Amino acid sequence: MNQSERLALYGGKPVRAKLLPYGRQAIAEEDIQAVVNVLRSDWLTTGPNIEEFENAVAARVDAQYAVAFSSGTAALHGAVFAANLGAGDEAITSPLTFAATANCLLYQGATPVFADVCADTLTIDPNEILKRLTPRTKALLPVDYAGHPADLDAIQEIARAKNLIVIEDAAHALGATYHGKKVGSIADMTMFSFHPVKHITTGEGGIITTNRAAYYERLKLFRSHGINSDARKRNETGNWFYEMIALGYNYRLTDIGAVLGLSQLKRLDANLARRREIAAHYTRAFSGMDGIVVPHVRDHVEPAWHLYPIQVKSAKLKAPSGRAEIFKALRAENIGVNVHYIPVHLHPYYRERFGYRGGEYPIAERAYEGLISLPMFHAMTDQDVRDVVRAMEKVMGAYATA
Ligand SMILES: *Cc1c(COP(=O)(O)O)cnc(C)c1O
Repeated sequence: MNQSERLALYGGKPVRAKLLPYGRQAIAEEDIQAVVNVLRSDWLTTGPNIEEFENAVAARVDAQYAVAFSSGTAALHGAVFAANLGAGDEAITSPLTFAATANCLLYQGATPVFADVCADTLTIDPNEILKRLTPRTKALLPVDYAGHPADLDAIQEIARAKNLIVIEDAAHALGATYHGKKVGSIADMTMFSFHPVKHITTGEGGIITTNRAAYYERLKLFRSHGINSDARKRNETGNWFYEMIALGYNYRLTDIGAVLGLSQLKRLDANLARRREIAAHYTRAFSGMDGIVVPHVRDHVEPAWHLYPIQVKSAKLKAPSGRAEIFKALRAENIGVNVHYIPVHLHPYYRERFGYRGGEYPIAERAYEGLISLPMFHAMTDQDVRDVVRAMEKVMGAYATA
């Protein structure tokens, strides 16, 4: 190991003095003003900003309708309800995702069935979906991993042939395009998350976009206790009567969150442009580097780059504990790397409830063993980007076998 470049893990000087997170929000002065104005208004929740935000998101992704929720997870739960999934029904999803994608099925009594991912994009493999279909399959839940849309044409084709509903988890993919179409306009229902690490934030929040009026109505019902009118509209019309016609939840987004989202949405294009610039810079810098694989982008796809996940190939490195060691070394350099994701079926809850033992989804599991998410967020400075590249060169250089 070169003395002048001694790793921070072994007492060297870190590349940065302060930890660079893997993702974080960017709040502008105009966002703060917008929130302050709502705080002074009559409506803190389900006021005029909710519909305005919904319309703005729907317009941005070329969808007819949008229904905002208190979180992306609540939105997914709403989509599972709107799709009428329940006990005895199965839905096929990716194991390489956040637990919420599968949990939302369990909330409604349906069963998540996993299908392995494609080795290049780490999104669900349509051929693996075909192997998991049963007479009980009612829906498909592809995940646009890291912001790269799943193979939506092939997925839609299966759905049409088998009469299945497609609910797309696009928590990573606001602003992505697939064969010229915007994510949010393609699946039966598409979920976006507004958690602070995502492209735009409402604090906590999420949304479903759809082109079907029937889903739109059921989503609105589910969001507010299953009650068929909202308090503000009753107030306006001087009408006290309402009825609860389904078992819903209180999954409403606040007007405070909605106005923040509206304000943030104005900068989405600049945000996406910056993420694409950072991704291109990383890919140029890391493509020739031994021991790692950079994210693959398929033709006719424009990813939204929520994450920039590399895969460490330990066989090509002298790092005895592989990814774990590279991860620790990058952290020591104050690069806030992360791992997305522990495959859902390997979590203790899923192992115990469904009997998974590991080995069921070899492509997702092997990918997981090498995955490291490098910092990727629109407010990263050029210096931040250079720090990541320098830390990668330093760390990968130290463990290279050549
Ligand atoms: C963030 C995320 C969710 C859930 O979103 P929340 O808004 O945090 O509830 C679901 N799926 C994926 C893949 C996510 O990254």
